[in-house]
Amino acid sequence: MTLYRDHGVVLRTYKLGEADRIVVLMTAEHGKVRAVAKGVRKTKSRFGGRLEPLSHVSLLLYQGRELDVVSQAETLDHLRPLHDDLGRLTRGVAMLEAVDQLAQEREPNPRLYQMLVGALRALSAADSPLLLGAFYWKVLAAEGLHPELEQCVACGSDEPIVAFDLDQGGVLCRACRRGAPISADALVLLRRVLGGELAAVLREPVGPATHEVDALAVRAMEHHIERRLRSVEVLGQV
Ligand SMILES: [Zn+2]
Repeated sequence: MTLYRDHGVVLRTYKLGEADRIVVLMTAEHGKVRAVAKGVRKTKSRFGGRLEPLSHVSLLLYQGRELDVVSQAETLDHLRPLHDDLGRLTRGVAMLEAVDQLAQEREPNPRLYQMLVGALRALSAADSPLLLGAFYWKVLAAEGLHPELEQCVACGSDEPIVAFDLDQGGVLCRACRRGAPISADALVLLRRVLGGELAAVLREPVGPATHEVDALAVRAMEHHIERRLRSVEVLGQV
């Protein structure tokens, strides 16, 4: 069997037999990987708690035909604050859920991996009302779905923008409006998120515009992956 090394973030896990678990990972170089972690559910597992969702680990894996097998896993980032705060934990899990939907098995997507690790580290370092929304917008843009934010997507005019339509992938003027309304403040914020001002935007205090950009990001992501994000529904209750 071939052995390989990689870094990865655990997206989710599920039980296998009596003591094992299948671990779904977003890796740096091998895309999404499903691997068996043997004995991980025993009290004295050699993996300890290192293969739980949100764990960022350095891995040694045996390549299998369908499932790989985890041979070693060492923690790279502890991300402890995520586990001490239910709101942040749920946002982190919402990031994992979207990446799980977007990543393809064994198709390298190092950019998506890097974006996920960067977002989890940022979320662990400091909470921000826009971190999840900004992550979704940046990921969608990286997937080639950068929304048109400057001119009306229907008529091309730069008349005041009043709406955002997911089917059309951009903003609309008053005459052409459809989809969801968007406020002037939220539009400015969204332009900044996608226009290279992310660090400054993440320091914005929570307010109606941050809520709007966040909610629109969730809808845009759900529209793209064609399903609801379960962890976001949970977030509404946190
Ligand atoms: Zn128009």
